[in-house]
Amino acid sequence: MKTIDLRSDTVTLPTPKMREAMSNADLGDDVFGEDPTINRLEEIAADKTGKQAAMLVASGTMGNLICSLTHCGRGDEAILGDQSHMFYYEGGGMAALGGIHPHIITNQPDGKMLLADIDSAVRGEDVHFPRTRLICLENTQNRCVGSVLEPEYCDSVAALAKRRGLSVHLDGARIFNAAVALGIDVKKLTRSADSLMFCLSKGLSAPVGSMVCGSSEFIAEARRTRKILGGGMRQGGIIASAGIVALEEMIDRLAEDHINAKNLAEGISQIDGVSIEPSKVQTNIIYFDLLQDNRDKTDEQFLAKLDEKGIKLLNLGPAHFRMVTHYGINSKDIDTALTALTEVMKGT
Ligand SMILES: *Cc1c(COP(=O)(O)O)cnc(C)c1O
Repeated sequence: MKTIDLRSDTVTLPTPKMREAMSNADLGDDVFGEDPTINRLEEIAADKTGKQAAMLVASGTMGNLICSLTHCGRGDEAILGDQSHMFYYEGGGMAALGGIHPHIITNQPDGKMLLADIDSAVRGEDVHFPRTRLICLENTQNRCVGSVLEPEYCDSVAALAKRRGLSVHLDGARIFNAAVALGIDVKKLTRSADSLMFCLSKGLSAPVGSMVCGSSEFIAEARRTRKILGGGMRQGGIIASAGIVALEEMIDRLAEDHINAKNLAEGISQIDGVSIEPSKVQTNIIYFDLLQDNRDKTDEQFLAKLDEKGIKLLNLGPAHFRMVTHYGINSKDIDTALTALTEVMKGT
């Protein structure tokens, strides 16, 4: 029985082409700037996102942290959404390691922060206040059903930032999902950001790694920060080679994941005892809730029953579950997952 693992797109395994690229990669010491494969990946990433320079990092969390630390000093403030990954899931890294004060404002259900909320969160000059330095956006917005921020919105946040003398960091872990969902060049989504992080290791299916992109000056500073965090990776071309395949071959197919997610959500909406809004699904992430009335199973029992049928998903709160479609999950797997969910809900 094939396991259909819908917990996250991070479970994707490298493609055969990636494995081949990894075993043949030209290597050198990247801390000396001498790994030709990393250098090539960084050029491709900068080029694709329309930035002057890029840098490979070990993870998305490390990339976001490096950007926060590069933009802000101790006691500075960063504005970010209450549903953002940087606030929710990164161990409070900016505060723990950078002394950066997170100023949290509400993410609307569509993932956006209201411009008025951002504007009123920016501090004036006053000895009582931390200094606002940074606004962080997230696209797609993981905790808001993988919702997409459009270029016009990102541009208006950047205009606000400019007016108030701030920088913009984009947590673009899944920025290519956003670009594919909108059917636009990713540069339209990245042009508004002073710095950007995106993951190679999620829907793009590389085994390890994320990219930080920005101006040459920003990336030069970010390299110092990466070294301080122990993120200099020597012959990292082994993983960069898979990243190159990810950027050259794995972007367009994300559209397939979005179709699968939509079909999964629509199928789930037909199952009794489950609440979901399929119209909210824009990319590869879906959430659903088990209705509390007459429930005969705990969340753990529900997961265990699905597990027996080879289906894995993520429990993210009482009766609240997430599923993510990705490379390795095809439309037949979606049907299998829907059948399993239907049976588990019926108790058969
Ligand atoms: C996964 C994710 C990250 C962090 O990436 P890791 O490689 O898991 O550290 C950051 N932001 C968002 C929105 C993510 O989904």
